[in-house]
Amino acid sequence: MSQTAVDVVGSDRSVVAARINGEIKDLATPVSDSDQVEPIAADSPEGLAILRHSSAHVAAQAVQKLFPEAKLGIGPPIKDGFYYEFDVPEPFTPEDLKAIEKEMVSILKSGQEFRRRVVSEADATSELAGEPYKLRLIGSEGGSEVMEVGGAELTIYDNVDPKSGEVCWSDLCRGPHVPNTRYIPPNAVKVMRSSASYWLGDQANESLQRLYGTAWPSKDDLKAYLTFLEEAERRDHRRLGAELDLFSFPEEIGSGLAVFHPKGGVVRRVMEDYSRKRHEEGGYEFVNSPHITKAQLFEKSGHLDWYAEGMYPAMHLDAEMDAEGNVRRQGADYYLKPMNCPMHNLIFSARGRSYRELPLRLFEFGTVYRYEKSGVVQGLTRARGFTQDDAHIYCTKEQMPGELDRLLTFVLDLLRDYGLTDFYLELSTRNPDKSVGTQEEWAEATEALRIAAEKQNLEFVLDEGGAAFYGPKISVQAKDAIGRTWQMSTIQVDFQLPQRFDLEYQSSEGTRERPIMIHRALFGSIERFFAVLLEHYAGAFPPWLAPVQVVGIPITDDHVAYLQQVAEKLAARGVRVEVDTSDDRMQKKIRNAQRTKVPYMLIAGDEDLAAGAVSFRYRDGTQKNGVPVEEAVAEIVQAVDDRVQV
Ligand SMILES: [Zn+2]
Ligand SMILES: [Zn+2]
Repeated sequence: MSQTAVDVVGSDRSVVAARINGEIKDLATPVSDSDQVEPIAADSPEGLAILRHSSAHVAAQAVQKLFPEAKLGIGPPIKDGFYYEFDVPEPFTPEDLKAIEKEMVSILKSGQEFRRRVVSEADATSELAGEPYKLRLIGSEGGSEVMEVGGAELTIYDNVDPKSGEVCWSDLCRGPHVPNTRYIPPNAVKVMRSSASYWLGDQANESLQRLYGTAWPSKDDLKAYLTFLEEAERRDHRRLGAELDLFSFPEEIGSGLAVFHPKGGVVRRVMEDYSRKRHEEGGYEFVNSPHITKAQLFEKSGHLDWYAEGMYPAMHLDAEMDAEGNVRRQGADYYLKPMNCPMHNLIFSARGRSYRELPLRLFEFGTVYRYEKSGVVQGLTRARGFTQDDAHIYCTKEQMPGELDRLLTFVLDLLRDYGLTDFYLELSTRNPDKSVGTQEEWAEATEALRIAAEKQNLEFVLDEGGAAFYGPKISVQAKDAIGRTWQMSTIQVDFQLPQRFDLEYQSSEGTRERPIMIHRALFGSIERFFAVLLEHYAGAFPPWLAPVQVVGIPITDDHVAYLQQVAEKLAARGVRVEVDTSDDRMQKKIRNAQRTKVPYMLIAGDEDLAAGAVSFRYRDGTQKNGVPVEEAVAEIVQAVDDRVQV
């Protein structure tokens, strides 16, 4: 008797496809006893992709039912959802999106089967005569990168109505899909938005409309996802930056270039001060370098060969002409620096170095400029000008394992001090097709990074072949308060720059040796880390980072002078404190302080004044009354010093 994959793995809707001898296929695929058949669960990464891509078919069917003139583009699954592209005369309106979702639900409920059919190129071409973009895919435009074609054979999937047996809709696709639309719960699907796009992502091609949707194994999963999106929106650093008056991006300055306002400036200064202190204790030496340099330096470093696209264009300076228009002096091209490394190398090589000076750790808050494409510029997380907490470590080969170990501990400790506690590490190893340095050097450095990483007892992921051509790297990925992963610190070994700059030191035997160079930035950039912390804390910075740590709230005007005395005591201990002397009523003052997410409110009325006390109101709304002023000051100073989270 012939059997299919579904007979082996069962027809429970929590299984959407099967892995047959290692390849993921439809559940309707025939199998024999000798085949290895494993279930693909709906909630596995592969299962989710199948669920979402199948939903994309349903979305396309819905669109063509409502807009028969719509021509189909491509419809892949993406992170958390799917999209499908259409050539339509008009962009979709919000009402259109609602109507599409409604139509999708009705298709899902009808339980249409996804039925696979192998077609010849000639048959596919005549069948898809009305779909110009699909024809182009058959004609191999887009190649095997899209999921419509690129399998061993061309296939069309028919959506078949289970009652009438009629084919309702068809699409060129290599699959796989769920067996029928009942596998996609109608209350776990949502049309999210639409936006303009280009055929195959190329601006030279036709402009299309991309419809985005999301699909989940259950209603609860969808609900959790929508709550997460709302929470992310509430925490968006661009929004909080404006609400809390921290920074802005004035149009007059240009895209991706932020200015920090006084309150954002305070947070930034505290972040920097603490980092400086830790680096000082960690044996770093502080250096400074200019923002612009002659092209020569980036020719030497190689950046102009492989990084020119990320740099602002050259400024041609210092050329001189005589009265006849003849060139008297050639002048030179200057560039804004996208990286600090070449400058630090010049500091290393400014004089002879001895092994006694190693490891040499050069640190700088170095501001760099990178010409990010306008499409990718995003708030402080992807800016065009930013300040790296950048360091370059020069050490001997023998020192490298110890230095990497120490460095990783330093990085993680520092990130924990700022309140991030959930990490995993990623080790990027050599790509054999594209690397400088010997196999041996790579093996040694990679092994040292691996040992350092494993000692941390953290989740550890291997990014095989993912290293840059110049050396292996560890990156620290941190999860924030709502579970999003941010790439934070990188520790990068570099075999190339010491060669290009001919860096040397004198060994204990008197020979000239090349040092190992390690690049590392812990925050990535101050601006980006600022954004990550702002989103992580949803604007409610812990006391040590909060721009205003205490607001004094007098119950009436009679208590203003008293609270000002309390404020002076706090200020004398370095606490950032304000007294609200506005004409607002007390309740309004409390609401204002809540809005600015200040950690401590100190309220004072007649009783407090008589007792020499104040009343605390904390950020969570709890209150503590009649606290003697000295105790209140001590509590706040302690919380700041200990960098507690409240
Ligand atoms: Zn498909
Ligand atoms: Zn560097």
